Amino acid sequence: MEKEILHRFYKKSHAEKIKALYRAEAISEEDYQALTKETLKLSPSVANEMIENYILNYEFPFGVAMNFVIDEKERLIPMVTEEPSVVAAASNAGKIVGLSGGFQTEMKERLMIAQIVLKNVSDIKTATKNIQENEEEIIDLAHAAYPSILNYRGGARRVDVRLISADTEFETPEFLAIHLVVDTGEAMGANIVNTMAEAVAPFIVELSGGSRLMNILSNYATESIASAKCVIQPKYLATKTMSGETVRDRIIEATQFALADPYRAVTHNKGIMNGIDAVLLATGNDWRAVEAGAHAYASKSGQYRSLSRWTKDEKGNLVGQLKLPISVGSVGGTLSIHPGAQFAYRLLDQPCAAELSRILVAVGLAQNLAAIRALVTEGIQRGHMSLQARSLAIRVGATGENIERVAKRLQEAKHMNSTTAQEILEDLSKKSL
Ligand code: NDP
Repeated sequence: MEKEILHRFYKKSHAEKIKALYRAEAISEEDYQALTKETLKLSPSVANEMIENYILNYEFPFGVAMNFVIDEKERLIPMVTEEPSVVAAASNAGKIVGLSGGFQTEMKERLMIAQIVLKNVSDIKTATKNIQENEEEIIDLAHAAYPSILNYRGGARRVDVRLISADTEFETPEFLAIHLVVDTGEAMGANIVNTMAEAVAPFIVELSGGSRLMNILSNYATESIASAKCVIQPKYLATKTMSGETVRDRIIEATQFALADPYRAVTHNKGIMNGIDAVLLATGNDWRAVEAGAHAYASKSGQYRSLSRWTKDEKGNLVGQLKLPISVGSVGGTLSIHPGAQFAYRLLDQPCAAELSRILVAVGLAQNLAAIRALVTEGIQRGHMSLQARSLAIRVGATGENIERVAKRLQEAKHMNSTTAQEILEDLSKKSL
């Protein structure tokens, strides 16, 4: 990738951006043509097969976050989002982290969990023993239900038994949850593990003496934890009015607050998910699954807390860390049929599922850094409002060059709202008569 050609990417026109990506060899000639002719769209005939009662393709903007260095590789990050500040913020944080060496990421294993939930198990001890003694047979049954997974070097790896005790406060009875832990190869694996779970359930019921309540994938993907880390020299954090050291310390304090207070932690983590969801959406992955898992992980101590940690090392550098359960695929699902998602994968240089998981966590950490840095320095509104001003201009009917003109005057106005935007637009229209 020829990085210099992408310099000041945000300043280029839409057509120049696409040309620059092609010239920088970040996209192929085929994708360049497809982007120019706007042919990377989901066809209505395919969409009609994707969901019930389909009537319309509802579009979101697809942008590219720049400046990311993840595990020493330069990356362009595809993002689909309707929130104005997300791509700019990610690019900004990517640049700050890139100046200090980029993100280091890790994912040790990638296993999905299917639950077979049993009730009315009268003898928990014997049921557990029977299930454990027949683990191999259960695994064989799972493979017989989805044999192709073995071709992809995946397969069921183990069977865990969890007792969920009765709870008097919530008036819940005792349950026995059997976890079938599966390597789903390159797939996210929801359909694969659900098929397996349904196939093994009757045998598990037989072994347990209880009755089956249900079987389904757990989106709490605790066996698919990806992590990202960055170490930033304070000088790269400085603003016009604050030293890098002050910004670093305030970022650490802001995280301490988000660790302690769930009201703040929710918004702190929402900022992380702004980035992760945008990449999940771009790559056609199940963002609801990752969202749900992430928030459960944020509560694993018994209280909802910040997902990220920001501390300082002995040299005074700011150290950021983020760890999350990530369940994504590089095959199957929406990716197999959506041209935009397939393009996003090509833009990312076709990562495998584990690599994509690691990229996602790095993007989440970048998004978190951008948000907290803005919050503890100039405040979030300044950056937000310049982009918001353009949305407001469009909302009141500005088109073409007038969008920028209205947005510029809106930012100088006392009140940035639709009435002011309307007045500015009318004034500009009068002047152009
Ligand atoms: P698919 O049902 O698409 O299954 C994966 C496909 O990828 C299979 O057809 C498989 O081939 C193929 N494949 C090709 N190469 C590989 C490889 N290397 N490793 C593994 N599979 C490979 O998708 P998933 O099972 O991943 O399920 C994901 C979908 O399920 C998402 O769309 C998600 O939204 C949805 N879902 C999510 C739920 C949730 O709770 N989160 C619940 C239910 C569904 P082959 O045909 O040879 O097996």
